[in-house]
Amino acid sequence: VSTRVGIGYDIHRFATDAARPLRLGGLLFPGELGLEGHSDADVALHALADALLGAAALGDIGDHFPPTDARWRDADSGELLRAVVALLQPRYRVVNVDVTLIAERPRIAARRLELRQRVAELLGVEVGRVSVKATTNERLGALGRAEGIGALATAALEEQ
Ligand SMILES: [Zn+2]
Repeated sequence: VSTRVGIGYDIHRFATDAARPLRLGGLLFPGELGLEGHSDADVALHALADALLGAAALGDIGDHFPPTDARWRDADSGELLRAVVALLQPRYRVVNVDVTLIAERPRIAARRLELRQRVAELLGVEVGRVSVKATTNERLGALGRAEGIGALATAALEEQ
């Protein structure tokens, strides 16, 4: 069996519109400032989608879901991730994924299991195959000034 790995990175700035909801890993974070972007700006799911596409050498989410396409305006990134999984399905199985959020806020520790469960559900895999971590940027740079949220992801696929 051949195993393939991919990496994804994404970053979104916080929205100036205080009413915009924050979505991370397919979950809503009530009371937190939302992120700016064409879709729902779910930075975690975008990084993850890119990691999955990267592992399969199928380009990136910009190729498959162009921001110029009105269909993806305020789109649920969970749907986007499901579409990526469907694209991979005939040939690949997800071995594991690992997501790291880089943010001064919100604190996600209390919702970590819930995040893993939601991502696992979107990918159609058991929760043991999904890791979600978070770190701050030690108050350094734009992320450290809490101007936005960054995310890194890796994914391993098995060819079937
Ligand atoms: Zn994004």
